[in-house]
Amino acid sequence: MDESVLDDISHRRYNPLRGNWILVSPHRTKRPWLGQQETPGKNVLPEYDPECYLCPGNKRSGGAQNPDFKSTFTFVNDFSAVKEEQADYDPPQSDDKTSLLLKAEGVKGKCYVVCFSPAHNKTLADMPIADISTIISTWQVLYRDVQLNTPFRSIQIFENKGAAMGCSNPHPHCQAWTTSHLPEEPAAELKNMIEYQRAHGSCMLCDYLAVELEKRERIVAENEAWVALCPWWAFWPFETLVLSKRCIKNILELESDRDRELFAEIISNVTTKYDNLFETQFPYSMGIHQAPLKGTEEEHAANHVHLHFLPPLLRSATVKKFQVGYELLAEPQRDITPEQAARRLQSQSTELYEESWGRLLKLEPARDI
Ligand SMILES: [Zn+2]
Ligand SMILES: [Zn+2]
Ligand SMILES: [Zn+2]
Repeated sequence: MDESVLDDISHRRYNPLRGNWILVSPHRTKRPWLGQQETPGKNVLPEYDPECYLCPGNKRSGGAQNPDFKSTFTFVNDFSAVKEEQADYDPPQSDDKTSLLLKAEGVKGKCYVVCFSPAHNKTLADMPIADISTIISTWQVLYRDVQLNTPFRSIQIFENKGAAMGCSNPHPHCQAWTTSHLPEEPAAELKNMIEYQRAHGSCMLCDYLAVELEKRERIVAENEAWVALCPWWAFWPFETLVLSKRCIKNILELESDRDRELFAEIISNVTTKYDNLFETQFPYSMGIHQAPLKGTEEEHAANHVHLHFLPPLLRSATVKKFQVGYELLAEPQRDITPEQAARRLQSQSTELYEESWGRLLKLEPARDI
């Protein structure tokens, strides 16, 4: 199959993971842009901000005081989206139209915040591999703890980075929302992965990774355990999917220090390339998808640990993609192809450059991968 003809024709691509179609319009990449521009992010943040509710020793808005932490710091969100304790809501099933059309179910859970480090101004791209490994260990401890000590079925670890993504505090941190139900995105993916496994007897993401490693047209970064690529069906202009080469089901299977180090390295590579691409602190939402904390054997077996990086920037530090109009009412759409995006990201250095926002100029030729 020769996909290069798709460089110049409008077409749709299928996302087998999510089970939806994306409209791709490569011929539109030259149209002029007169829309909204974002203010470029200047990294002028101090290492400690007395006003920040995530910095060590500071008071949070809920009144609690942060300890003088030296590494990662995990706490229960003072304004959790779900309640841990509440009355059960379990309406009786019935066939009448009201029960059919006005459905609801109670949700219990607990939301955590994990500060990546005491430093107010160090993003994942600024951190040494060893410190990112520490964050991964913290995620593992949390996953295990919630799995063993709560009745909750799901944990969604995610990072919202940058004001463009609505992140309310620049202190680098992620969140982990644990819930009694499996949320929409992982639930839809899991359903499709299970159906694929039933139909073909193999793991969808293992098969997909093998195809991508053979074609090598959308690969952004790679090490011995992980591959970062712009997926065939990417929706966001520079969206990446980070896939484990081993078919691991959850992050607990990253057992050795070396396992965590390789995971940290690919996260570092992707976030650094992102920052270098438009010479800015690249905003994104990132999340880990993995097996539910509690589920059937089939749900566990069909899973394959992966990360989604969903960044909104389109063509510079100041031009953002909006999901509006046709995309909200008809179908997601993109202009530059995932292959073009992958080539641009692949060619970025994995060393941070320095610019007016204060980093050393360290440009090196991109590694041939
Ligand atoms: Zn802070
Ligand atoms: Zn797999
Ligand atoms: Zn996923």
